[in-house]
Amino acid sequence: MDAYAATAAQPAYPIPENVFAERVVSVKHFTDRLFSFRITRPASFRFRSGEFVMIGLPNAAKPVFRAYSIASPSWDEEIEFFSIKVEDGPLTEHLQKIVPGDTVLMRKKPTGTLVLDALLPGKRLYLLSTGTGVAPFASLVRDPETYEKFEEVILVQTCREVAELRYITELVEGLQDDPLVGEFAADKLRLHTTTTRDSFVRMGRVTDLMRSGKLFTDLGLPAISPEGDRAMICGSMDMLNETKSVLQGFGLVEGANNAPASFVVERAFVG
Ligand SMILES: Cc1cc2nc3c(=O)[nH]c(=O)nc-3n(C[C@H](O)[C@H](O)[C@H](O)COP(=O)(O)OP(=O)(O)OC[C@H]3O[C@@H](n4cnc5c(N)ncnc54)[C@H](O)[C@@H]3O)c2cc1C
Repeated sequence: MDAYAATAAQPAYPIPENVFAERVVSVKHFTDRLFSFRITRPASFRFRSGEFVMIGLPNAAKPVFRAYSIASPSWDEEIEFFSIKVEDGPLTEHLQKIVPGDTVLMRKKPTGTLVLDALLPGKRLYLLSTGTGVAPFASLVRDPETYEKFEEVILVQTCREVAELRYITELVEGLQDDPLVGEFAADKLRLHTTTTRDSFVRMGRVTDLMRSGKLFTDLGLPAISPEGDRAMICGSMDMLNETKSVLQGFGLVEGANNAPASFVVERAFVG
């Protein structure tokens, strides 16, 4: 029996008031480094699409909590996460073993800057991510409000391997049949995945592709401009800094919840 399952039946952790204990509904593994899972949603839990929350497991008297972007939209009846598996990672070495019926802890207060309210009105929204940084955008592209506010939504995810693009590719394909956003997504959402290692139809880092202009040529769009374009960035610290400076070069200005502007950023992990 693995470490998590051995302790899951009898949580060592007395659930405090600021934590929900939720049941795992489903788990899907994509690669040896990536998986997604869905948990039950507490009736009183409210969040804005794009926000993150702290999650943990009831496997110790003092559980390890880590920040996780909520990948499902704010209207969904369940909560979805898209996760890395870090070898010997204090949380994910156990989290990657969860099965339906297990318990996941979730702190009650969501937060974050990748929310529509932090952007000024615009025509086109760029959602720029690497790796699990696509998670908050998996939430936003399933929220009708995104399509009410923008005429066009360009979702970019760069990963090393083709297999790492599967989560978002399948999700966007599945939107065709979604009764709530299917029609909007068909008209307005464009997924632009790229790889940096595996051979693929589109290759290269998003920063290089923006600097060279290839991203815009491939999409058949003009280069980013502050008039109509807005952006959100989620990736490693290096990716954030580099992408930020590229966007600033196009004249975009960083915003926040209390000071909306033309782009916002969030770290996909602390590294
Ligand atoms: C605002 C925010 C939102 C986040 N959202 C997500 C999310 O939606 N999905 C997710 O998997 N993680 C997310 N993370 C990272 C998450 O908090 C944990 O770091 C991750 O789950 C690993 O936990 P751990 O305890 O196993 O290892 P940790 O001790 O937390 O990490 C060990 C090392 O693994 C690397 N690492 C950690 N997370 C990642 C990652 N996601 N991708 C690549 N390398 C990583 C880093 O180098 C880190 O130093 C988020 C972090 C922040 C700050």
